[in-house]
Amino acid sequence: MSEGNGGPLPVVAIVGRPNVGKSTLVNRILGRRAAVVQDVPGVTRDRISYEALWNGKRFTVVDTGGWDPKAAGLGASISRQAEYAMQTADVIVLVVDSAVGATDTDLAAARILRRSDRPVIVVANKVDDERSEANAAELWSLGLGEPQPVSALHGRGSGDLLDLVLDALPEAPREQLEEGGPRRVALVGRPNVGKSSLLNRLAKDERSVVDSVAGTTVDPVDSIVTLGGEEWRFVDTAGLRRKVNTASGMEYYASLRTEAAIQAAEVAVVLLAADEVISEQDQRVISQVVDAGRALVLAINKWDTLDEDRHAQLEREIDRDLARVKWASRVNISAASGRGVNKLAQHLREALASWETRVPTAELNAYVRALVQETPPPARGGRAPKIKYVTQADVRPPRFVVFSTGFLEAGYRRFLERKLRERFGFHGTPIEISVKVRE
Ligand code: GDP
Ligand code: GDP
Repeated sequence: MSEGNGGPLPVVAIVGRPNVGKSTLVNRILGRRAAVVQDVPGVTRDRISYEALWNGKRFTVVDTGGWDPKAAGLGASISRQAEYAMQTADVIVLVVDSAVGATDTDLAAARILRRSDRPVIVVANKVDDERSEANAAELWSLGLGEPQPVSALHGRGSGDLLDLVLDALPEAPREQLEEGGPRRVALVGRPNVGKSSLLNRLAKDERSVVDSVAGTTVDPVDSIVTLGGEEWRFVDTAGLRRKVNTASGMEYYASLRTEAAIQAAEVAVVLLAADEVISEQDQRVISQVVDAGRALVLAINKWDTLDEDRHAQLEREIDRDLARVKWASRVNISAASGRGVNKLAQHLREALASWETRVPTAELNAYVRALVQETPPPARGGRAPKIKYVTQADVRPPRFVVFSTGFLEAGYRRFLERKLRERFGFHGTPIEISVKVRE
C-alpha cells in the first residue's frame, strides 16, 4: 500500500490480457496520460501504481499490465497477475475486450478470481457505442457478476465504473486494522449487572496489567486476561475497578466511558442481570455496540439467582426483549460462582470470526440471484426494482452494497439480511446492507 496524508490508501488492481485496454483505462481513471510506459522488449513492465482521486476519495491504482513474454505463456502470466491482485488489492478490476469476447485466457483469469475474497468487477471494454452494449452482456459467462460496459478510449461508462469501484472499497484501509496482539474486548453494561465481579473472577488468571496513560495517571487502563487458553485484552478496565458514583449526573459519564471502551474494542460483552428485567438502559448499551459496528456477545449474569424452573421462561423473555439482536451470541454465566464464565471465550471467538467474514463476490451474487428470482422485490408504483449486483464492500463488520434499478423497501432489505444470515451465518456480528440505485 502507498502512503498518503491520511495513511495507506486502498488499492484497486487492474488485471487482464494484453491489448484489452488496461493502460487506456488507467489513463482514463487518472484523467491524464500518465500510465503510458515505454515498453522495452524483453523487459517486464510490472505493477506500476498511481494515486487516483474520484469524488473526493483517494485510492491507488495498480496496473498489473506488465506481462513477461519470457514467462511460460500468456496463461501463466495472467494467473500470476490475478494471484498477485488477490493478495494485495482491496478491489480487483478484470478488463476484457468485449469486441473479442471472453477468450480462454480471460476464462482462466476469471476462474482464479472467482476464488477471491475481494470484490471483483468485470469491465467490458471497448463498448464505444450503444450498438456494442450487447457484447458486454455476453461477459456474464465469466461468472463474476454484471459486466460493466466501458469505453476506456472515449470515456463512455467510466464514471459509473468509478462509482462502483469506490462503493466496493473498504471504509478504512486494511492496514489500519491492527493485526497481532490479543483481541480487544469491552466489558460493558449498566451499573450493578456484575462487571467488576466478572472482571475480578477473570483476573484470577490475569497475567499483567498494561498501558498506563502517559504521565497523567497511575491507573492501568487495560487488562490482559487469559480465558479459554488464549489472551484477551479487556479495554478500559480501570473504569470498572474504580467504582463510579452512580448518583444522578454520573450516568452521563458512565455512558461516555462505555462509548470509549466500545470504540477501543473489536468485540463487546454486554452484561445483563438475570434477576432483573431488561431495562431501557440495557437496551441503550446494546445499541451503542450495534451502532459502533462491533461484534456482540450478550452475557446473562447472576444465573445462580434463578430457580431451575425459571430458566426456560427467562430465555423466552430475553428472546422477546432482545429480538432485534437475535443474531447476537448469548451465554448464561455467574460471576459469583464462576459458572459458564469459561464459555465466554468460545462466544468471543465466534463473534469475531463472523465480524471478519468476507463472502466471495461470485458466491454472494450466485446466492442473491437465486434468491431474487424466487422472491423478487415488490413493485412500487407499477415497476419492480431489479437487483443487478451485490458486493461486500467491507468487513469488521460485514457491509454489503446492493445495486438496484430502484429503491428497495425496508421490509425487503430485512428479508435480504435474514437470508444472508441464514446462508452465511454472521452469528455475533451486526451486518449492514445499503442500496445504490442505478438506472
Ligand atoms: P493494455 O496493454 O492491455 O493495457 O491495452 P492498451 O491500453 O494498450 O490498449 C490496447 C489497444 O486498444 C490500444 O490501441 C488502445 O487504443 C485500444 N483501446 C483501449 N481501450 C479502447 C476502447 O475503449 N475502445 C477502443 N475502440 N479501443 C480501445
Ligand atoms: P458492576 O456495577 O456492573 O460492576 O456490578 P458489580 O460487580 O459491582 O456487582 C453488583 C452486585 O451484584 C454486587 O453486589 C455483586 O456481588 C453482585 N453480583 C455480581 N455478579 C453476581 C452473580 O453472578 N451472582 C450473584 N448472585 N450476584 C452477583
